Order: sequence, then C-alpha cells, then structure tokens
Amino acid sequence: MAAPSALYSRFLASSGVSTDSRQPQNGTLFVALNGPSFRGLDFAPQALAKGARFAVVDDAELAAQSPDRYTYAPDPLVALQELAREHRRQFTGPVLAVTGSNGKTTTKELLHAVLSRRYRVQYTRGNLNNHIGVPLTLLSIQPQEHEVAIVEMGANHQGEIALLCGIAEPTHGLITNIGKAHLEGFGGTEGVARGKGELWQYLAAHEGTAFVNTADAKVMERAQVVAQQITYPGLADTYPAELLSAAPHVVLRLFDGTPVEAQINGGYNFLNLAAAAAVGAHFGVPADDIAAALAGYAPTNNRSQLVRTEHNELVLDAYNANPSSMAAALASFAGRPGALSSKMVILGDMFELGPESAAEHHALGEQLASYGFGSVVLCGAEIAAARRPGFHHFPTKAEAAAWLAHNTPQSQQILVKGSRGMGLETLVELL
Ligand code: ATP
Ligand code: MG
Repeated sequence: MAAPSALYSRFLASSGVSTDSRQPQNGTLFVALNGPSFRGLDFAPQALAKGARFAVVDDAELAAQSPDRYTYAPDPLVALQELAREHRRQFTGPVLAVTGSNGKTTTKELLHAVLSRRYRVQYTRGNLNNHIGVPLTLLSIQPQEHEVAIVEMGANHQGEIALLCGIAEPTHGLITNIGKAHLEGFGGTEGVARGKGELWQYLAAHEGTAFVNTADAKVMERAQVVAQQITYPGLADTYPAELLSAAPHVVLRLFDGTPVEAQINGGYNFLNLAAAAAVGAHFGVPADDIAAALAGYAPTNNRSQLVRTEHNELVLDAYNANPSSMAAALASFAGRPGALSSKMVILGDMFELGPESAAEHHALGEQLASYGFGSVVLCGAEIAAARRPGFHHFPTKAEAAAWLAHNTPQSQQILVKGSRGMGLETLVELL
C-alpha cells in the first residue's frame, strides 16, 4: 500500500475535516475553500484560533512561515477531493452511489434504514451531495467501524457524476430515475440521461454492480453497458415489487410476498421503496427486516410529508420541484381519496429550467386545468406562465401569504410544492 500523503497524515492526526470557520473546530483539519464571494484563506486564522489543528490554504508563503499549522494546496477544493479519495481507499466495504433526477435523498434515507438492520452504515447526512458534500461524506467514514457506505450524488451539469465517481469509487450504484430536473445545466432531457448515465459508465469500467429500475426506460437503456445488474421492480426482475395502494400511504408487496404499509405518501415513492428493498435483499437483509425498516421510515424533511393542521390536511412537498416531480406529485395528489373540489394546490416556481422554463410552466398550467382542483394558488414570477382563468397568481410569496391570511382554507386537502428557493414551507402556519 502506498505511503500516506502528508495531508492524509494530518487528517489522521485531526478529529475530522471542517470547511466552515463558524462551526466548532476542536482539533479539526480546516480546509479553506473559496466561495463565489469570499476567500477561504481569510477565515483560516480564525479557525485555528477556535481550535482547528491544521489548515489547508492556497497561500504558499503563509504555509512556509508556519508549516506546523498550515499546509499549502494550490486549490484547496482539489486537495479536499484528493484527500477524500485517499481516505475512501482505506475502506474495504461496499460503497453505494445513489443518483437520479428525483428521490435521491428519500431513497438514501430508506437504504440507510434497511441496511442498518444488518450493517454499520455511514451515509450522506441531509443533502450533502455535491463536489464538496461527497468528499465530506467519504471523510466521515470510519474504516474500522463502518461496513457499508451510502453516498448521495447530485449533479446539475455533465461530467459532475463522473467526477464524483472518481472520488468515491463506488462498487455499487443506483439511479432512481431520469427525468426533467436541472434541464438548464444539462442541456435538455437527453443531456440529463447522459449525465446520470456517467454512474453506469463508471460501474461498467470498474466491474461494479448496478441496481436498475426497469420501470424507467432511460435508466434501463443506459444501464446496458453494465455487466452486473440487479433489477427491480417488474415481475421478471431480480426483486419484483407490486404497488397495492398509493393513498393515503403507499402500500406495496415485497419480492417475497410481504405487504408493507409505508408512512410516506405519493405513488412515486413506490419506486424509492422498491429500490431500497432490492438493495437490502441483495446485501442479505432478511425480508421481514426490510419490511420493518420500510414501514418504520417517516419523513420529517418537507419531502412527501403528511401534516394535519387545525383546519386542513397538508401534503407538504415544499422541499423542491421540477417538471417530473411536479407531475408525479399532482397525479398522486389528485388520486388521494376525497373530492377534487375540496383539494387545493399551492405551487411555486420551478427553477433551473433555462430556455424551457416558460414552456414547462405553461404545460404545468395545462395539467392543472385538466385535473380541476377546487382551488389553485400559484406564486412566483416564472409560474405566471401556468395561469388559467380561475387560478390565483401572486408574483411573490409575500403576496400569496397576505391573500391566504385573509382567505384561510378550511377542511381542504392542500398540496404545497415549489423549488427550494421559494421556501413554501413558511406558508404552513397560515394553513
Ligand atoms: P435533490 O436534487 O434536491 O437532492 P432528491 O433527488 O434528493 O432532490 P428527494 O429530496 O428525495 O429528491 O425528493 C424531493 C422531491 O422529489 C419529493 O418531495 C418528491 O416530490 C419528488 N420525488 C421523490 N421521489 C420521486 C420519484 N421516484 N419520482 C418522481 N418524483 C419524486
Ligand atoms: Mg437530495
């Protein structure tokens, strides 16, 4: 085995890595990352004063003056990524990468619940899924302690998943689905397919195993390059699953016939649940443990969350939105028991659609008109393209809030969904 790099030795002598000098620094290795409007270097002295053991900076002179505290790196971000790769190579267990347009975090949480029944699992916390979050997740693995690692990988442009795979070196991979998300950065739907397909390409080149959702034609088509495939959820697949009911909660039948009543709603979550079951089964988690783990998972993160207020029943899906997840959420909401006339949707802008934004928001308007919900409230600038007679539209969330404060819905089922930047969860107190 190669001798550890100087930076890796410093990492081993630290309590962990930090990139935010505002956080406690007891014994950390502080990596002074540059941001769009700040220089990480400016925060390094503060981090050391607060207890960081070492700092990685892009100032060669400073590092030469105090070599016992500073390590020079021409690009601290690259240093962080290389450090993460070096550390990942100390880990001999499976590393499962999870990407896809929608449902990565939900699937990752379900996978954690399932695999934890049998293994000590390290996994992405929250949504730390980018070029910084993936290295931080890898660096949090304790090679002697953990047995499996689950790494969520997000991307909004070509080459990003390939880069993240080059750092995480996954042995297994799962693409939840390929849909319309981050169309702007990827350059259209085909671009998304190519970008997500980079995970399959990596696994194909490194004898990895792909967990393939055969209900998604694009996922399946791109997976042809991978020799080692575990498939779900079709009857002819390795691990079949069957959707028994989508509302009020998802009920599914597992590959061995066990019915599971999940605590998540939305028919689309069936595929996320089926994915977690397939991975669990592949890694030898007993079926009744898989069933218990899936049934025990309750989201608390604004994703497909059911919330009962004094007046109404909410489907709180305000975490994010794009054309695919919006269509899935509307179909699922329309299919819930209850009259359409007593259903209200409060929707916000879908961001990052680039030149397709107006057309996608217009198409959203068509969908909404065809469902015939009792009440439609739209808020944001871009979603103006979805306006139809009878819909309420407000250019800002503040205006929507003011209207809702005077027109408080009663005894309604209400779907709340929009892009993260809209932060529609703050409307809940008015509902
Ligand atoms: P991000 O890109 O922000 O990391 P993500 O891929 O991790 O998102 P989640 O956070 O799990 O996705 O879910 C976000 C929203 O996507 C959910 O609230 C739901 O509306 C929608 N969603 C989840 N799973 C699916 C799916 N399988 N198909 C379509 N939409 C889905
Ligand atoms: Mg996520």
